[in-house]
Amino acid sequence: MEPATTGALRYAVRAAMPRARADLADLVAIRSVADPSVEPVSECRRAAEAVQRLLTEVGVGDVHAVETSDGSLAVLGHTPGPPGAPTVLLYSHYDVQPAGDEREWLTPPWELTEVDERWYGRGAADCKGNLVMHLTALRALGQPFPVGVRVVCEGSEEQSSGGLEALVRSNPEAFAAEVVLVADAGNVELGVPSVTTSLRGTGSVLVTVRTMERPAHSGMFGGAAPRRAAGAGPHARDAARHGRRDDRAGAGGRAALEWRGIPARAVPRRGRRAAGGAGPGPRGGG
Ligand SMILES: [Zn+2]
Repeated sequence: MEPATTGALRYAVRAAMPRARADLADLVAIRSVADPSVEPVSECRRAAEAVQRLLTEVGVGDVHAVETSDGSLAVLGHTPGPPGAPTVLLYSHYDVQPAGDEREWLTPPWELTEVDERWYGRGAADCKGNLVMHLTALRALGQPFPVGVRVVCEGSEEQSSGGLEALVRSNPEAFAAEVVLVADAGNVELGVPSVTTSLRGTGSVLVTVRTMERPAHSGMFGGAAPRRAAGAGPHARDAARHGRRDDRAGAGGRAALEWRGIPARAVPRRGRRAAGGAGPGPRGGG
């Protein structure tokens, strides 16, 4: 197949935008919060079905849903590429964060709404719009794809409940690819196409610190008296600051010390770039 020229692709993407918007509106209208205490399970099932339908329609082969260890459905698909071509894995997720108090929203959360040429709705930026970006790219490329394409659209990313992680461990061949494109990231700036090349990741830490029952005067007890967070190192101090409301040590002591971070120049250059590039812009969240 002749590689598509940039001009042809640009034209094809532009032509596909009304359809992209319609697909996104349909997806945003589904309350796919992967937590049955917030939204009914049927919403996530509906979203998984919609994703399968859309992927099949743009030409991805072998599209199917797999139930993962947390009960969510991950949607997978695979079209092998021409001989010798690499395989690109496109990752996104269709589940979203709860809308919370809908009266606090400036636009209705489950209805894609345009404000100043931007499209707002729960999950529009995280990560349903990103999935629609993949769909639009595949639609613009057309058949046959110039590379092998795998698609993974997860159903419980926002819950950190480990469904997809377990699936990757038990079924690694379903994720075999030369390149993984994780759509779950933002642009550095409005209108600037961006590829995020590194992410910091997250971790959950439970810090338990044993200390005295009540505050003691430093002048009288000094260094012999263990202070709650001070002795546990900067990471624990940082954790204590973020976990302040969950301070169960109680007894009237101070739960946290002020942690102002480290000077920017002490951050390695690569890390600083990644930090700037990975986060959503001031209006990009959602
Ligand atoms: Zn996300």
